Amino acid sequence: MYPESMSLHLTGRKYYEILSRELNHPIDSAEFAAALDARDPLRHLRSQFHIPLRRDCVPEGQTETEDPDAEAIYLCGNSLGLQPKHTRKLVDEELDVWATLGVQGHFRHPENREWVTIDDHVVEESAKVVGAKPSEVAIMNSLTVNLHFLMVSFYRPTQQRYKILMESKSFPSDYYAIESQVKHHNFPPSTAIIQLSPREGEHTLRTQDIVDAIEREGESIALVMFSGVQYYTGQFFDLHAITSAAKAKGCVVGYDLAHAAGNVPLKLHDWGVDFACWCTYKYLNAGPGGIGGAFVHERHARADIPRLAGWWGTDPATKFDMSHTFAPIPSALSFRVSNPSVLATVSLLGSLRVFAQTTMEDIRAKSVLLTGYLEVLLDALDSDRFTQLTPRDPAARGCQLSLLFREEGVMMKVFEALCRQAVIVDERKPDVVRVSPAPLYNTYAEVWRFVRAFRGALETVSVGGDAVDAEGHAEKGFVTL
Ligand SMILES: *Cc1c(COP(=O)(O)O)cnc(C)c1O
Repeated sequence: MYPESMSLHLTGRKYYEILSRELNHPIDSAEFAAALDARDPLRHLRSQFHIPLRRDCVPEGQTETEDPDAEAIYLCGNSLGLQPKHTRKLVDEELDVWATLGVQGHFRHPENREWVTIDDHVVEESAKVVGAKPSEVAIMNSLTVNLHFLMVSFYRPTQQRYKILMESKSFPSDYYAIESQVKHHNFPPSTAIIQLSPREGEHTLRTQDIVDAIEREGESIALVMFSGVQYYTGQFFDLHAITSAAKAKGCVVGYDLAHAAGNVPLKLHDWGVDFACWCTYKYLNAGPGGIGGAFVHERHARADIPRLAGWWGTDPATKFDMSHTFAPIPSALSFRVSNPSVLATVSLLGSLRVFAQTTMEDIRAKSVLLTGYLEVLLDALDSDRFTQLTPRDPAARGCQLSLLFREEGVMMKVFEALCRQAVIVDERKPDVVRVSPAPLYNTYAEVWRFVRAFRGALETVSVGGDAVDAEGHAEKGFVTL
């Protein structure tokens, strides 16, 4: 058990002031950060990941790099989680089985991972991560694809109830999926999609405003669809409150957990969520383009639910009879369509084996402290050149802090100055950097070093003058998800 499970109740500056006295080091000292790492019960997990090196991470063409063999500071697990060392072995094993057994690997496997049931090995741990019963989880496809497939089943508009309630700043892929589904059912997006915006002068949505919208328009809302953690601001929506309000009005409720899965505690089953989907390459460290995840509440494990079906959703006992009778598996597995990528599935397995060594409660406990420490150090810079978009309440965020720069053009310059020092965060145009200390592998010392580098970058960046043009930057391909 993580000793600081009370951290949600006592966080921020006050918590660190107490610790600073206890450990006898000033809050903003490297010694304090090192002492925090020394008492971190999850510190052993970092060694199970490949940490990129400085020499590989500085921009191409930058030949002189201080300390080239040292580790880079990687605070970008919100976009692509680092590679667990164990993953390569698992992938190699599958390549070996393929090389030596060919097609027989589907039913015969020296590691007892027959391909025909390969995803069985990743369902249970995935279910723990999202707070579901194993029968409510399927590992399949990829995120936006799952969003579409689940909306086919769960967005069933009628003339009276046809609207989708969502946020105005949703991730573009989610919006495209939702808009195209609405059009597919011949409803005009302008009236069928209700997009909620934060209040004037605020960056994040208030739970009460979401609940009020549901109560006001619930009768005409078919689907309430939010992200779990907002990709841009890092806000962790109160999914329990949103779900309860939506269910009370008879709406279907679904979530995109791209930035939530593996980041924040979730209780999809207990909250009564209808469906959810997520990707596994962010906090779940399954590698670029990793296989997706889907949750369907057990109350929907019915044969008559409308769906786009495929052979991987039918009863395994008769799957290979090659009949034309679809007999859906009475669980989320019935939503599978195709046989899954074995390489992508074991890549996820490599990461879930790290998750299996701890609990989401302990990961969350460390995360709250680590991100709280980042916030305290950033506050101590006392700079009016940036502001934090992410809620200050730890319960309303995951591990990411999004920093908004006030002066035009500064963000990209700060970002590039960090890149030159092999400090990897990510940028969101026009003015935001996202900084995400991932509790499985990031350390307090890295957070401390990040803030030092960030302060240095801010100091060297003047306004105007040598502005880096955004277009040129985009050409270099710094695209993050
Ligand atoms: C990362 C992310 C995606 C990416 O979608 P893919 O289908 O995996 O390419 C979609 N939606 C949100 C909210 C994301 O954060």
